[in-house]
Amino acid sequence: MAHKITDECVSCGACAAECPVSAISAGDAHYEVDEAACIDCGACEGACPTGAIQA
Ligand code: SF4
Repeated sequence: MAHKITDECVSCGACAAECPVSAISAGDAHYEVDEAACIDCGACEGACPTGAIQA
């Protein structure tokens, strides 16, 4: 299961810089995780100021 970014996301972009496989990009409503690319490392979770990233 890939990590997911919820509606709590304020599109600050902090998580994208932390992802080692560049799986996070700006989506339509908020940032999104490419499920096919995510390796579930969890590196992005701690970077989110609003706790919008869930395992
Ligand atoms: Fe990227 Fe790791 Fe977050 Fe998946 S869990 S989106 S691989 S930083």
